[in-house]
Amino acid sequence: MIQIQNPVMWKQTMEQNTAAGLKTGFVPTMGALHKGHLSLMERAQAEQDLLAVSIFVNPTQFNDPTDLRDYPNRIEEDIAKLTDIKADYLFLPGYDDLYPDSCRYSVVEKDFSGQLCGRNRPGHFSGVLTVVLKLLLLTEAKAAYFGEKDWQQYKLIKGMAEAFFLDTEIIACPVVREDSGLACSSRNELLSSSERNQAARLYEVLSKYARNPCAGAAESAAQELAAQGFAVEYLQQVEDRLLAAVQIGSVRLIDNVRVTAISS
Ligand code: AMP
Repeated sequence: MIQIQNPVMWKQTMEQNTAAGLKTGFVPTMGALHKGHLSLMERAQAEQDLLAVSIFVNPTQFNDPTDLRDYPNRIEEDIAKLTDIKADYLFLPGYDDLYPDSCRYSVVEKDFSGQLCGRNRPGHFSGVLTVVLKLLLLTEAKAAYFGEKDWQQYKLIKGMAEAFFLDTEIIACPVVREDSGLACSSRNELLSSSERNQAARLYEVLSKYARNPCAGAAESAAQELAAQGFAVEYLQQVEDRLLAAVQIGSVRLIDNVRVTAISS
């Protein structure tokens, strides 16, 4: 696996591969890789000639400095996992590499980014969209793979790619879960074992109400979660998804399921 820190070198390398007729599948991440991330990479490997991964914990999408400070850093383990699955390229930029403008320029979406996860986190999705736009422009992959675990993020990125005529196809991949049903997340390792047991109830409750969609299902599910000790930030149906963000102790978790078909 070839590791690159410098954006110019990354761009040149990606361009050379495209010129050689090779199709790149790109998976941007913030590291602490788990089987959810790996599922995106497997899909990219199955569909494209080369797998390019980035690891960058993007400070501009964190509006809580404690959350950023506590975000897990497992770079040696991540490199071992990527080597193991035979990833071809790893982009590991630093802050100054990706933000030579000190973040004077950013992408703003004026509608959906203010809802759900954006409601209480001002600037979060601008941070996400800005860094993803930079990464997509630097990589110019045939396709980039994102998880439906972060469904709102996926929708916003897909919308941005269309709005800015990006050539990269934006592909959604299903949520990967632990045996308990808990959606795999780098944040799960911040949960104590009892919190982890409780966290699995989130999927159970969402699934139950998604299977029986009816007026007031979202409100009922929110009440049931609150009764079980979750601090519910939101629980809402958008399109065919029932989406939630909850807090257990100091850990914020998000999840979503498809309404009527519990296959995600
Ligand atoms: P992150 O490192 O949290 O920024 O995630 C990088 C990518 O992995 C994003 O597209 C996420 O949606 C995706 N991802 C994270 N967790 C999961 C999961 N449990 N299942 C599927 N994709 C996931």
